Amino acid sequence: MKAQLKTKAPASARRGDIYNPATGAVIGQVDYASAADVNRVVEKAKKAFESWSEVTPMKRSRIMFKFLELLNKNASELAKIISAEHGKVQIDAEGEVQRGIEIVEFTTGIPSFLKGEYTDSVGTGVDSYSLRQPLGVVAGITPFNFPAMVPLWMFPIAIACGNTFILKPSERDPSAARFMAGLLSDAGLPDGVFNVVNGDKEAVDAILHHPDIHAVSFVGSTPVAEYIYKTGTENGKRVQALGGAKNHMIVMPDADIDQAADALMGAAYGSAGERCMAISVAVAVTDKVADALVETLSPRIKALKVGPGTDRKAEMGPLITKQHLEKVKAYVEKGVKEGAKLVVDGRELKIKGHEKGYFMGGCLFDRVKPGMTVYKDEIFGPVLSLVRAKSYKEAVDLINSHEFGNGTSIFTNHGGVARNFMRDIKVGMVGINVPIPVPVAYNSFGGWKRSLFGDVHMHGQEGVRFYTKLKTVTARWPQGPAEGADYHFPQNK
Ligand code: NAD
Repeated sequence: MKAQLKTKAPASARRGDIYNPATGAVIGQVDYASAADVNRVVEKAKKAFESWSEVTPMKRSRIMFKFLELLNKNASELAKIISAEHGKVQIDAEGEVQRGIEIVEFTTGIPSFLKGEYTDSVGTGVDSYSLRQPLGVVAGITPFNFPAMVPLWMFPIAIACGNTFILKPSERDPSAARFMAGLLSDAGLPDGVFNVVNGDKEAVDAILHHPDIHAVSFVGSTPVAEYIYKTGTENGKRVQALGGAKNHMIVMPDADIDQAADALMGAAYGSAGERCMAISVAVAVTDKVADALVETLSPRIKALKVGPGTDRKAEMGPLITKQHLEKVKAYVEKGVKEGAKLVVDGRELKIKGHEKGYFMGGCLFDRVKPGMTVYKDEIFGPVLSLVRAKSYKEAVDLINSHEFGNGTSIFTNHGGVARNFMRDIKVGMVGINVPIPVPVAYNSFGGWKRSLFGDVHMHGQEGVRFYTKLKTVTARWPQGPAEGADYHFPQNK
């Protein structure tokens, strides 16, 4: 097996430390690519495109089958790598790998998804057909919170469609990308088809300005997503840039409170709240529901088992960096100052033997108001805000007025309310009695409003569309002598 964690040193001298968030120890270093490094990789990918785009879809699919086999075989190893650098607990990391694997499963069917359409006799003796062709060299820029799954949303589909791909993973946890590059190489993918460049803004800017990169997929925070979309499109690229979130879950008076509380525990505190589909706001319709939720959730939040990813009993790991831990704690402080009621305060939690790790316990705010910072901003930590609404309409208006529109959910037993919610809500991914409605591989993932810049969602059919260009051919095979020039606009009379 060629998979290895060490990165090949590029010409640039800049590099950064990789930390184990559970211990605070430096566990590696990663080289940061310069613009010159990126240019070299683009040249390699461009050269590889010439032959890769000529490989038949069925043969590309066979390589994806082999990659799938290797991913399945190495899933637990990959999850360990993720857990060590990201901090999420092993079982959560395994779940992320599994959801990524499902995209590769989807991709093995690429010949069917690339099938064109043929129309006989669009004119007399004239037929028409359409085909989807790859774009060329395309790039993906990914966040720290899903170091395997988010890249897997992108590159298997891009490659299977005949493109060559450059991945710029997060500099916080870059080793999963390297590991997957090794598996792809072992699966027989030709050199230069999948490439990893590590680094920060310098590498990203080189990607955004390179004339030979035709499309960019981005997932990360909203300010960066907006920048990527603006700069990428200004430079003539096709761009899909997925940003941040503030996902609300409405709990209606007819909902089962225990079920809603179970859902909120996993969705708010799983992965320490560092998920773009985490629920960070519970909207209780009526004070009665709010009081019941506070009563049910509080002891459970206090009993959360927080620990390092290596502890099989842990339910929640540390945050990604010391700076992020401080930022999340500062948000909690701000919430208190702005008048929200801090019902559970996990800020002072210390884990024995891991005192230098970036741990905190779960926090719960009650009586959060829409104007407060903890309501408006994406905190990206284990902090749940409870907003009290008087009616379903007030709850829906709240969600529709928010800057973000990634995911949302409603807990109710009333079919009519659920149906209205599904239709009225201005959010890209909607759950009905499902707290984290992450679409499966053959559907597509994406938010609305400032959670997505661009028009095309990720993976599924949308992914195939994003990574291919449509071409329509109109063909006639002359059956007789020349008939002379015709100056009318072609029409079907
Ligand atoms: P981030 O925006 O800081 O970084 C994402 C990527 O952009 C990284 O590869 C990083 O190196 C690069 N980057 C960072 N700053 C940059 C800059 N100024 N210019 C150019 N490139 C830059 O995000 P993160 O902290 O790694 O991830 C967390 C964020 O990602 C959260 O906001 C979360 O909601 C979001 N996210 C969204 C989705 C989604 O599907 N909508 C999924 C996962 C994560």
